Amino acid sequence: MTANNRLRFKRLVRVSGYECMKCQNIPLMNNMLTVDHIVPRHHGVDRNNSSNLQLLCYRCHRIKNFRNMQNI
Ligand SMILES: [Zn+2]
Repeated sequence: MTANNRLRFKRLVRVSGYECMKCQNIPLMNNMLTVDHIVPRHHGVDRNNSSNLQLLCYRCHRIKNFRNMQNI
């Protein structure tokens, strides 16, 4: 994780209050939260745009990515 990414992650965690933005659960460990790109990167969106980022727990992130794969 680069310094920039770490900053972005900390900011997102502060905004979300450690909650997953989808299921509103607070994962037991902070490192179970992961930064998700709302619009997948390969859709040509600026990945530095923080409005395209959300915090998801590992489980929601996996479910979302699985759905994206099915849509391709
Ligand atoms: Zn979740």
